[in-house]
Amino acid sequence: MKEGVGTTGLILNEPFLWEKGKKGRMGFSLPNNDVPSSPLVAELLGEGPDFPDLSEVDVVRHYTRLSTWNFGVDSGMYPLGSCTMKYNPKTNERQASLPGLAQAHPLLPTELAQGALKIMFDLQEHLAEITGLPAVSLQPAAGAQGELTGMLLFYAFHMMNKERRTKILIPDTAHGTNPASAALCGFRSVPVASNAQGVLAPDDVEALMDEDTAGIMVTNPNTLGLFEEHIKQISEIVHTKGGLVYADGANMNAVMGMVNMADLGVDVLHLNLHKTFSTPHGGGGPGSGPVCVTKKLEPFLPVPRVMHVKNRYELSYDFPESIGKVHAFYGNFGIQIRAYSYILSMGDQLKTASQLAVLNANYLKESLRDIFHLPYDKPCMHECVFTDKHQQAFKVSTLDIAKRLIDYGFHPPTIYFPLVVQGALMMEPTETESKENLDDFIEALRQIVQEAKDNPELLLQAPIKTKVRRLDETMAARKPCLAG
Ligand SMILES: *Cc1c(COP(=O)(O)O)cnc(C)c1O
Repeated sequence: MKEGVGTTGLILNEPFLWEKGKKGRMGFSLPNNDVPSSPLVAELLGEGPDFPDLSEVDVVRHYTRLSTWNFGVDSGMYPLGSCTMKYNPKTNERQASLPGLAQAHPLLPTELAQGALKIMFDLQEHLAEITGLPAVSLQPAAGAQGELTGMLLFYAFHMMNKERRTKILIPDTAHGTNPASAALCGFRSVPVASNAQGVLAPDDVEALMDEDTAGIMVTNPNTLGLFEEHIKQISEIVHTKGGLVYADGANMNAVMGMVNMADLGVDVLHLNLHKTFSTPHGGGGPGSGPVCVTKKLEPFLPVPRVMHVKNRYELSYDFPESIGKVHAFYGNFGIQIRAYSYILSMGDQLKTASQLAVLNANYLKESLRDIFHLPYDKPCMHECVFTDKHQQAFKVSTLDIAKRLIDYGFHPPTIYFPLVVQGALMMEPTETESKENLDDFIEALRQIVQEAKDNPELLLQAPIKTKVRRLDETMAARKPCLAG
């Protein structure tokens, strides 16, 4: 086995700080006490909590070691399909931590917040240009909240026409948040099966679309990594029946600078700034899921809206048809700065980034197709989906392959999603991996497939090099053992 990065040596064990402490040890030296101690202090403080006595180096090493137990895009390749775990340039972090931005208070009067408002206004304009949809709200805090906002916009639009439509069409390949957001807004989701080519067929949409249906939610490119090539025709069908088209734009990383969403008939789209536009994600930190809409839906956008009037930036609440606020203040500003900095520093290279993301995914697909079953055999966008069909003969499954990748120093890809593909392995390499990194990943998978034939027992036990081996995942989530 070729040794993977970071999989050997110096994997340090770490006791609790309580076990490490030694009476009298200190992180700093105070001068000797030259005044009598007051009994009052002792009375007030009593015995005090039983904190361990530690030196500075004890504490620094403890937390630094713990930090190495985590895996992130800064430590290695993270090909988690649908999540776009790409490397985020550090300059964008730096801009977000500039004191004037990081410490700006949301209650500052607008005269004192012109710079922050300009960033928000300009970011809206850039996102409008990238998507082709002219009006933008930066408020939603995540993709899922962007979807909910989009559904509220659908509802408001139909109510304006005095219609209370009750259903939403959602493809069977959709991310779970799509039907959840529709349901939260009171809509009933109606699944649309994708066809044998992995995309939506206009006839299937036509058969389900009626005047009680508020519209359709389409992810494009979809979660099979395939472009919905009939989207224009599908949009026409939906619009003819008075419905609206929502695009889940979480996969925008595949099409920046190449696809104008308005031309495809999209009315509302959310972006994931924390996937496509340079915010690290994965640990549940703050995100941002702006919604971009056509002129027709602009009056319903959340307030306040950032406006540019007579050379001044303002916050306007003057939109009587607005659905109201969806986030405190103006959304997660720190994430917006990272996206703004990313877009400005990339310029027209955004298009190149998308082209490279697509090239890398197709390179993986072509390099692995002789060892893994490829359910949809055609050029992919930013991700490719394989299955474990060929490995089942050795009683080795997708889960075993994913776990074994950890021993080779790679984060596993997304597995068992999308649900329409049995035993799915969904890989998204992103544009930020070099050919050498991709080749190492391909080589690791080739060796794992060979191991599946020669030594399937080993795979069933993987990972074997990690601190903790294979977990009972349900128990690990429900009753986490935090004692290490
Ligand atoms: C990530 C993702 C979402 C949800 O975004 P969150 O920011 O996690 O709420 C929705 N749809 C697709 C296709 C995604 O990949």
